[in-house]
Amino acid sequence: MFNRFRFGADLEQSKTEEDKEMPVAEPQAKRKPAEDAADRAAKHTKLTRKWQERYHSICDECFEKVIPCTHYADVPLRLLIVGHNPSENAWTSGFSYSNPSNRMWKLLMGDFHGRQWSGILPQDWSMTEQNVMPHGLGIGFSDLGHEAGNDAAAYGKAIMHRWKSEFYQRLQAHLERLRNSLHSNKEQNCDNIYGHGPLLVAFTGKRQYSFLFDPPLKRVDSGLQTSQSLPPDWPLPAACEVWVLPSSSGRAAMTDAARCKPYMDLAARLHEIPWPNAPNCTCSASTEAIKQEEM
Ligand SMILES: [Zn+2]
Ligand SMILES: [Zn+2]
Repeated sequence: MFNRFRFGADLEQSKTEEDKEMPVAEPQAKRKPAEDAADRAAKHTKLTRKWQERYHSICDECFEKVIPCTHYADVPLRLLIVGHNPSENAWTSGFSYSNPSNRMWKLLMGDFHGRQWSGILPQDWSMTEQNVMPHGLGIGFSDLGHEAGNDAAAYGKAIMHRWKSEFYQRLQAHLERLRNSLHSNKEQNCDNIYGHGPLLVAFTGKRQYSFLFDPPLKRVDSGLQTSQSLPPDWPLPAACEVWVLPSSSGRAAMTDAARCKPYMDLAARLHEIPWPNAPNCTCSASTEAIKQEEM
């Protein structure tokens, strides 16, 4: 029954099989039939993608042409922000969290419902400067899934676990590109305790983090995760910190104070990291470079 929704080359072969499993993995009794996986996939293929992940900056021309930008190299990041999957708005605008109703940029800026703090982003930066944030601020962006969709809960366990593997592969490819550019030869000793990986990785929602586990975690606390609690196959060195932030979506009911606190804490942590010349940039040992949290 799903075959008639397949629109050819854009859909990966495995999608049909995985979509079939979704009702088992995540029963969504309230879900309307019109929002089922096949319809979603069909809708996804009709949207014109402009969105790209950002492990490195993207020049204007490559952004407009929607091609991987080779004009900027990967940079060792201070912070990698990991969303669930791009919204339809983000997919077509090219900018993460671009939906006008999404409050992520207010939370990143440190200006949310009358609360103000020194945010992750400086005040004079804006959402549309995402293309240069990797080299300008050491802040990169990715999403677990690279498929347009507005309803995170529509993605079941099978898809989430495939997305996890793909995310890990992209993260490892980022590290590989960095090693290739920073090391003069493959045998070079590298004592960097971060492996040149992002010093901080922040998941902008509990759902995509919980699905890094099998079975998915039933409960995730916001904020810094202890290194002992990370997924068993987590691909980054233990020195790289993992943070989980509450979703910026209004759907998750919580007080403003509770929503803002992890963003404030992460911003304070980020401000402790020197930029440029963050401690993941050189191969020499960097244990002293940023204060290690007590764990
Ligand atoms: Zn380019
Ligand atoms: Zn190195």
